[in-house]
Amino acid sequence: MLKFQGKGVYGAIAVGKVSLFKRQEAQVRRIHVSNVKEELEKLSEAKSKAIEQLSAIYEKALIEVGETNAQIFEIHMMMIEDDDYNESIINIIETQSVNAEYAVAVTADNFAEMFSSMDDSYMQARASDVRDISNRIIACMNASDGGNEMSGEKMIVCADDLAPSETVSLDKDKVLAFVTAFGSSNSHTAILARNMNIPAVICAGEEFLSSIKDGDKLIVDGHTGTIILDPDEDTEKAMLAKQSDDARKKQLLQELKGKENVTIDGTKINVFANIGGVDGIGAVLANDAGGIGLFRSEFLYLESEDYPTEDQQFNAYKRVIESMAGKKVIIRTLDIGADKQIGYFGLEKEDNPALGFRAIRICLTRPEIFKTQLRALYRASAFGTLGIMFPMITSVSEVEKILSICDEVKAELTREGIPFSKNVEIGVMVETPAAAVISDLLAPMVDFFSVGTNDLTQYTLACDRQNSKLEPFCDTHHEAILRLIKMSADNAHKHGAWIGICGELAADTSLTETFLRMGIDELSVSAPYVLPLRDTIRKIDLSR
Ligand code: PEP
Ligand code: MG
Repeated sequence: MLKFQGKGVYGAIAVGKVSLFKRQEAQVRRIHVSNVKEELEKLSEAKSKAIEQLSAIYEKALIEVGETNAQIFEIHMMMIEDDDYNESIINIIETQSVNAEYAVAVTADNFAEMFSSMDDSYMQARASDVRDISNRIIACMNASDGGNEMSGEKMIVCADDLAPSETVSLDKDKVLAFVTAFGSSNSHTAILARNMNIPAVICAGEEFLSSIKDGDKLIVDGHTGTIILDPDEDTEKAMLAKQSDDARKKQLLQELKGKENVTIDGTKINVFANIGGVDGIGAVLANDAGGIGLFRSEFLYLESEDYPTEDQQFNAYKRVIESMAGKKVIIRTLDIGADKQIGYFGLEKEDNPALGFRAIRICLTRPEIFKTQLRALYRASAFGTLGIMFPMITSVSEVEKILSICDEVKAELTREGIPFSKNVEIGVMVETPAAAVISDLLAPMVDFFSVGTNDLTQYTLACDRQNSKLEPFCDTHHEAILRLIKMSADNAHKHGAWIGICGELAADTSLTETFLRMGIDELSVSAPYVLPLRDTIRKIDLSR
């Protein structure tokens, strides 16, 4: 038995046999030609054939994964007709008197390199698209469609990477799971896997690929990203049990999708989801969350080697906001420091980092970083319904400073003629005892509170959340924490603000009734908890 660790992009468990993806890679050689016109005609015919194939794939994808996801193949068709792409191919054929296959392959390399070197991760992921369309054109010139035949049995498809068209071209009924050695969770392939409802793990590594052969037994855990080769009996049994647990949950998901979060006596509450990046959207939608209650924006900074630019941030926020199609998206400004350290910020080492220079303290000290993020957020607000919230608040003066910087940013955007929404809600996190205790003073300044119970617990009980030894002392249901939440809820409502909870406690269904009785307006949880929480809410009767 051998274990490999990748990144789960769609959570479910598959047990089955390996089918190594066989790519009919065209061996492209540089050939000097005397008849350039003939090469140009060959290119034109191959392009038409490629567009015909893509159009058929688009129709198939429309049925299997829906219009939004099928759009990538429309984009592929457009890319084949792109002027720059075609000029480059034709130029190489004409100036070097070479075969069309070679000109396409060189153009693919150049364009893929260009996309890969871009700062924007979405554009970087397009490198695989340009390779994909180029391979298709070359395959069409060689009278091969690059197809991949699969036997009757459902198999776990393993590959170095899969292009979107390769993913969709596979017979969905014969695929148990996808495992790729490389890949990015931002790629369309990962998005398609989620939408095709097929467990998928990416970044399993080169060693994984060299250790497997066709027919090997594999367990793929799309939740954890773990892959087990040749599992022993006990492991297989345990994973099968986890699989039936999954099936039960899936059933729950189907039954509760589209239903309201309403108690027996008719009290309604919003159930939103937490995400750490753009790639969390799939799970939010799949689990039917009513909005996003916490987007931990610091992950954009953590994944980056340098400060993400205003445009990079704008693109990420816009994608999240647009994907939610008008549903509320609450983005929390940068919350680093403590357990989330970033080298390029050059923060000094501290003896007590959890009580140190973190979150809003960094933003207010380095306003250039803060303003870049706020500009990106306000610009993105034009594309849907946005709320911005601020972490680690302890005082009224911090909120005053924040509001004044927000006003500066809005005035700047107005001067520059850049559109933004006038209805962006402003909220503060209640995650320090100080914020809860002065919630009567903070509430009139904001539209909402969001209780961060993870930090509120650590600061109220003086228990470092990173220290596992403190587990026995860290009672998350402690009366002190519940009283601070209740006090914040009462003060919020007194001043016309709403209040949500976005810490882990929001998913603790043993407290759901308590929170409802406090009048909490929103609970924001990890996407897989949305439906179990909805189930709990629907069984509560507050009239009793
Ligand atoms: C919290 O503290 O409860 C919270 C939601 O923020 P984080 O876990 O990111 O610190
Ligand atoms: Mg926190």
